[in-house]
Amino acid sequence: MNPGIPDEKGMKMGMKWHTEYHWFNTRRQREFINITGLVSDAVRAAGISEGMALVSAMHITSGVFVNDEEEGIKTDFMEWAEKLAPFRPDYQHHRTGENNGDAHLKSILFHHQVIVPVTDGRLDLGPWQQVFYAEFDGRRRKRLLIKVMGE
Ligand code: ZN
Repeated sequence: MNPGIPDEKGMKMGMKWHTEYHWFNTRRQREFINITGLVSDAVRAAGISEGMALVSAMHITSGVFVNDEEEGIKTDFMEWAEKLAPFRPDYQHHRTGENNGDAHLKSILFHHQVIVPVTDGRLDLGPWQQVFYAEFDGRRRKRLLIKVMGE
């Protein structure tokens, strides 16, 4: 039960919740997709003024992160991830018959979700901050959750 919080006029204000699912099927095995527009649209659809948006990859071989929309740094991120968690045949995980051990490790490096702030009805990101979906085992349908909460 949500009892609500009285505002200055004594009216009850309740939390609003808005949930969206988005599907991706990337052309490449590993890819970063700028989803700032999707998150912005979800915030608008939620109709909140103050709150936050949770953006969460619903898979264990993909991730979500906030950083710069700049080709150089995106290439650097991919090279860094490949260095720390290289694609190779001999992961323990591959005993299951899978071959995506590196994608699980890369997912941990980038984390699976972020929370971004909403102020005055808009995403309150810094000047260079953008939200990215990070795919490490693509070429198949995978899902992302955006949950906006606030009032
Ligand atoms: Zn796996």
